[in-house]
Amino acid sequence: MIRRFEGSQLLVATHNSGKLQEMQHLLEPKGITVTGAAQMLLPEPDETGTTFVENARIKAHAAAGATGLPALSDDSGIEIDALDGAPGVYTADWAETDTGRDFNMAMSNTHKKLLDSGTAQPWTARFCCTLVLAWPDGHDEVFAGFVTGAIVWPMRGIQGHGYDPIFVPEGHNITFGEMDRWEKNHMSHRADAVSKLLKNCFD
Ligand code: IMP
Repeated sequence: MIRRFEGSQLLVATHNSGKLQEMQHLLEPKGITVTGAAQMLLPEPDETGTTFVENARIKAHAAAGATGLPALSDDSGIEIDALDGAPGVYTADWAETDTGRDFNMAMSNTHKKLLDSGTAQPWTARFCCTLVLAWPDGHDEVFAGFVTGAIVWPMRGIQGHGYDPIFVPEGHNITFGEMDRWEKNHMSHRADAVSKLLKNCFD
């Protein structure tokens, strides 16, 4: 049986400010107050899994164990068909540098790999989001969300975060980077997963 979340204050186990802001926009209208992992001074666990759900479980259980509170984590990324699903679970890793994450570099490298692959456009892709709501007793609930679209070049738009400037969702002609947050939050992979979470654990 699916366990429900009782309460109105939810710990979101992410240090990614873009994800946290989207979670706030998605959850606060439902009367849920969101606290981020950085606010609670929680360390960032190593993401040693090879799937979105493994990494989301690592983050949610680490936060629930450290605080004694239920914790929600998000593991997400982009899967590009012409790159056999890469970067997928390694989406954030493609942006790593010695001095922090550089998403312009990651997007340029992604574009170069697509050119090297010789695949004709459209470069179809999908953003994936796996949410895990974990309780301190070890129980968890898992919800996955998706949005399909295509990779475009050059980068367009300065809103959003991560790979948003090179992703155009299906049925649209602007990138997530060009959309305002309200519009993205109606169709994103995160919105899809959050709506399943709300339906099953909150409503
Ligand atoms: P992780 O879940 O911490 O492993 O990081 C996932 C990575 O996927 C982020 O650092 C972003 O680069 C990318 N990503 C996830 N969701 C989005 C999104 O909504 N827009 C753009 N990039 C995203």
